[in-house]
Parts: sequence; C-alpha cells; structure tokens
Amino acid sequence: MIIAIDGPAASGKGTLARKIAEYLGFFYLDTGSLYRAVARDVLARGFRLDDTWAAVAMARSLDPASLDDQGLREPGVGEAASRIAGIPEVRAALLEYQRLFAKSSPGAVLDGRDIGTVVCPDACAKIFVTATPEERARRRFLERQALNGDVTYEETLVMIRNRDARDAGRDSAPMRRADDADLLDTTEMDIETAFDAAVGLIKRKISQ
Ligand code: C5P
Repeated sequence: MIIAIDGPAASGKGTLARKIAEYLGFFYLDTGSLYRAVARDVLARGFRLDDTWAAVAMARSLDPASLDDQGLREPGVGEAASRIAGIPEVRAALLEYQRLFAKSSPGAVLDGRDIGTVVCPDACAKIFVTATPEERARRRFLERQALNGDVTYEETLVMIRNRDARDAGRDSAPMRRADDADLLDTTEMDIETAFDAAVGLIKRKISQ
C-alpha cells in the first residue's frame, strides 16, 4: 500500500509523512533528500549545478546510506536541490529507486513534489499539503532562528516564493496537486491537528 504526500517547501509534509508512516507501521522515504544528496555530491566534487552530465552521474551513483547526512538540511542544499531537480535526466535516474521503495511491505509513505503525479500515480491515498507562503516562511524562519539566527523573515519569504515558482514552473514533473489528491491546508493547523486530518483522509480513501 502506497501513501503519497506532496506539497511545497515548509508545508509540514515531511513531519506529517513521517508521523503517518509511524502510525501505519509503514516505511518512509523523504524523496527531497535524494535531490538534496545529488546536489551535495555535485557541489562537493566541484561541479557546477547546471552540469547535466555531472548531476546525472551523481544521481546514478547515489548511495542511499548517505541520505541521513544532517548537512542535507542546510538551506543552500535545498536551493541547489531545486535547481538540479529541473534536469529531466536526474529525475529519471532517481525514479527507479523511489518506485522500488514504494513497493516495500506492508506499505510505504513517500513525500515530495511529484509522488502522486509521476512516481506513484496509483498510490491508494494522495494528499497535497499546503499552507500560505507567509505561514511557511514563518515556520522556516523560526526553525532557522533556532539554529543560527542569521536570516530575516523577509529573506525567508523571498526564498520560499522563489522555490515555489521554480518547483511549480519547471517542465519536468512540476510540483502540482494530482487530480485525485486531497488538499490539506495546514495554515491554521498545528501538527497534531494536521495529522488527525490526514489520517481521516487516508482512512476514507482506503475504505472507498
Ligand atoms: O522537500 P525538500 O525541500 O527537501 O526538496 C528539495 C528540492 O528537491 C525541492 O525544492 C524540489 O525541487 C526537489 N524535489 C523534487 N521532487 C521531489 C522531491 C523534491 O523535485 N519528489
């Protein structure tokens, strides 16, 4: 059984997907970490982010054991990931790993941008998690402040808007809600409320 959770940066989809996986006893894959890891490897070897050959080579040789690296959560890596994620050959190179993971038994929860539309169009439940850019920027800003505090709310909002535009505007597997995905707007929700709502949506889909 596959549960697809998509949505923009800082929508809360990662926390939600992890909690849902834990609740259902399913395996969990944060697919953003794949793109982040490819970007990390491209930069670490001194290649440019628009070097398609290098990005594809890094994607093909990606070591799944390196996905827990805390460095992947750095803001610069997220930006870089969003740039290499626009390269169709990089997406193609990462597709098989994601689809294989999705077949995990008894089930898998995958979160990302294109899970419901491209990676697992047959997922039994799909949720598109969102929140206003202002609320997402507020959450990201608070997270960053707790870590090093060297970023303003306004800069964070600009970053969120730019990332949304890049992820939704690319030609290859753009971020979008699948036609059969439920929309979950978490702007006014804390994580527990969002979790309860998501579980309700999933149960309804499963019983249909
Ligand atoms: O979700 P996260 O912020 O970790 O993702 C980093 C970037 O990876 C996103 O901005 C997006 O460009 C890319 N990504 C993607 N498709 C996915 C997951 C992430 O294009 N399924």
